Amino acid sequence: MNYIELDKKHTWHPYNSLPTKTKILAVKKTFAQTIVLEDGTELVDAMSSWWSAIHGYNNPKLIEALEKQANIMPHVMFGGLTHEPAAVLCEKLAKLTNLPSIFLADSGSVSVEVALKTAILYQKAKGKNVNKFIALENAYHGDTLGCMGVCDPNNSMHSLYGEYLPNNIFTSVENIEQAIIKHHKEVAGVILEPVVQGAGGMKIHKPDYLKRVRELCTKYDIIFIADEIATGFGHTGKMWACEYAEVIPDILTIGKCLTGGMMTLAAMCTTKQISDTISNSEIGVLMHGPTFMGNALACSVANASIDLLLESNWQEKVSNINKIFSEKLSSLEGIEIVKDIRTIGAIGVVELNNPDFAQFIQDECVNQGVWIRPFGKLIYSIVAYTITNEELNKICDAMIYAVKKANIQFKNMEQDR
Ligand SMILES: *Cc1c(COP(=O)(O)O)cnc(C)c1O
Repeated sequence: MNYIELDKKHTWHPYNSLPTKTKILAVKKTFAQTIVLEDGTELVDAMSSWWSAIHGYNNPKLIEALEKQANIMPHVMFGGLTHEPAAVLCEKLAKLTNLPSIFLADSGSVSVEVALKTAILYQKAKGKNVNKFIALENAYHGDTLGCMGVCDPNNSMHSLYGEYLPNNIFTSVENIEQAIIKHHKEVAGVILEPVVQGAGGMKIHKPDYLKRVRELCTKYDIIFIADEIATGFGHTGKMWACEYAEVIPDILTIGKCLTGGMMTLAAMCTTKQISDTISNSEIGVLMHGPTFMGNALACSVANASIDLLLESNWQEKVSNINKIFSEKLSSLEGIEIVKDIRTIGAIGVVELNNPDFAQFIQDECVNQGVWIRPFGKLIYSIVAYTITNEELNKICDAMIYAVKKANIQFKNMEQDR
């Protein structure tokens, strides 16, 4: 039995049934910006593996770091023990984020869970019993139950879990100031993705609101959590999207491209004031500790990935990517099925009026040699910074071709009506 049949029998895929009802492509290997399928088909990757593989696949520097660490010590428990890769990584992150107290987590969702717990513990340490959060409409902050509690109840999986999920306060970017003023006594903090809401609809906001959120959170002593798991490490054109408003949050969560897409690792970074307040209170400790916390392999790869990024001229590369996305995708303006086209940094988005043609467009892009996975009515691409102009043009051309072809179908259907 080949493994694709085994997969159908036993293996859950993300957000899917078992066996899957949608087509699953079998991948044999990867290199640079290319995914090679079992039948030898090569696809240029427009997704950078859920926005994580910023240096492309099989990067020799990352592989070297992994191999070297594997021979020294792949993993050791982090309770009561420490090691060089983890300590060096925490110092790197402290410098890079201006937030000196780092908790290493094993996935983005876990780092958000730890961020929410930290905010609640901070308030408890200050004598405040609060457990609600303010979040944005359309918010996405991860799939675990605590994270789901701060995902928008109207367009997430809330309805499935009902009472199990906490009730939080959701507001628009326009109304967030009023929401903080109104609810500051009930909440431990505010959680949001700065500037770009990624999985929450690839929405791009003017950064000004972040300044007011920062001011109000300081004024009321509530915790400002910036979830930069998607936006971080240069995706928006700045290292952190918060830099667009020149604000530093109280807690920053990072993940996705922390290891250049090679290993699962995330982090919660916070201020000395918060770590001191919890540590010097009766609570005394941050009660969280994953088995694989501070995994030495992942930390070594993260160190290599950050070095690689900082040594590269990533700003120039991201701005070149943005130029190509903006120029090329603008040719879809005015097309009937297209609602909006927007780009920022290494992110290019074509929003359709509805999701009807998403699967068709995905299939057409694959036929054109490009791996795209639309999200609802969003046809988007977030690419590796190492992508060549030729590869990026191929991605844009495939998106344009597929959307135009879908539009012809749409118009034919309209005529038949
Ligand atoms: C992906 C993502 C998460 C969840 O990270 P996982 O590693 O998938 O658990 C949380 N917040 C944001 C903004 C994300 O994009």
